[in-house]
Amino acid sequence: MHLTNTADTTVHAHQHTQTQPEVGVKSSKGTKPLRNPCNLCQSVRAILKRPKTGQQLCKECFYHVFETEIHNTIVDNKLFKKGDRVAIGASGGKDSTVLAYVMKLLNDRYNYGLDLVLLSIDEGITGYRDDSLETVKRNRDQYQIPLLIISYKDLYGWSMDDIVKEIGRKNNCTFCGVFRRQALDRGAIMLNVDHIVTGHNADDIAETVLMNILRGDLPRLQRCTSIITNDTSDDASGIETSKILRSKPFKYTYEKEIVMYAYFKKLDYFSTECIYSPNAYRGYARVFLKELEAIRRTAIVDIIHSGEALSASVQANESTKLPTMTNCTRCGYISSNELCKACLLLEGLNKGLPQLGIGHTTKIRRIHEAAANVAEGLSLSSTSLLSPTTALSGNGAESATVVTAVASSSTSSTLEERGKTVTHIKDLARLETMPSLQTTS
Ligand SMILES: [Zn+2]
Ligand SMILES: [Zn+2]
Repeated sequence: MHLTNTADTTVHAHQHTQTQPEVGVKSSKGTKPLRNPCNLCQSVRAILKRPKTGQQLCKECFYHVFETEIHNTIVDNKLFKKGDRVAIGASGGKDSTVLAYVMKLLNDRYNYGLDLVLLSIDEGITGYRDDSLETVKRNRDQYQIPLLIISYKDLYGWSMDDIVKEIGRKNNCTFCGVFRRQALDRGAIMLNVDHIVTGHNADDIAETVLMNILRGDLPRLQRCTSIITNDTSDDASGIETSKILRSKPFKYTYEKEIVMYAYFKKLDYFSTECIYSPNAYRGYARVFLKELEAIRRTAIVDIIHSGEALSASVQANESTKLPTMTNCTRCGYISSNELCKACLLLEGLNKGLPQLGIGHTTKIRRIHEAAANVAEGLSLSSTSLLSPTTALSGNGAESATVVTAVASSSTSSTLEERGKTVTHIKDLARLETMPSLQTTS
């Protein structure tokens, strides 16, 4: 946290007494000039340095600028209409706790006329989500906003603890991300809401922009920079969408300021990171972003603006080819494929082929077909084909090795042909383990 340090205070107080000596004298009733006054109100001593602008502010002025910027983001982007029923995706972490607090405050202060509800997803992660959900329950009582909790276990039959036991820690974020997105939509339908707001902040978005630029993933770049999304912005990247609007009121809000706000307001939040999953690729983007921010505080917002500009130019160049959206033949969720991503992942889990849904759809289909062909050759079901202990290590290369071994023992004719199958599956495995395919943001 960037609280005012001694060096800054000295410099500032010095400048202040030079330019406006009489203010300090008056406000201090004839004694000493006010040391380090707030840059905005000038009447109270500054107690913090604002990370986004470097301004030195008193607590009240910080609250005011922080809340007003979010209000302006909401109004400028026309996020809501009067009477909208809005679910706040609440995890108990700092971002969503501050979001719930600020949404309620702005709704009252500016008369948005929104009907707010809290929506939490219980992924089933012992020692993490169970504790953070207790925080959300306290927030429900503190802010007087109704709360719905829905669990992966109920929706999919698998908790994240179960999934990690099966697949290990490598790709579990893919499962979690796909399941969470769909779970939020299902919760929103149960709550009959028009709109879901999430606590993604400027740092999260800038990281995602960097990751998508590094991967050259333009569809995802477009998606991550839009403040509001719905089904019409679907992008053939294999991400299912729904008709419920989603938005990020913290798109331009710095993470450090959210932490500062929660700290000074003494908000009740849960501050442990998820015990599974540190996403390595995002971790690199995060470290890089923090280094840039240390050199230039506007770096975060600059990167978001770059992402927006790139997206706009891509959009201008592309003839808008949207995939036809249908409904998943299994669960009815909106999808651009016959099976939605969650059902595909579940099929993999339930059949003991957890790599099935990881990666892009065409590649998945090829892996699926390759596995099915091998299974047919052996006249075995795919479930009994691969023993869970070897196939479910969560590592694409390892499960491919298993398939390969089966392939070479199958009835397939020549050595040469077997060699081809092996190479093919190896290539798929290599594609699968590329870091770009392991995230869902
Ligand atoms: Zn002030
Ligand atoms: Zn489905």
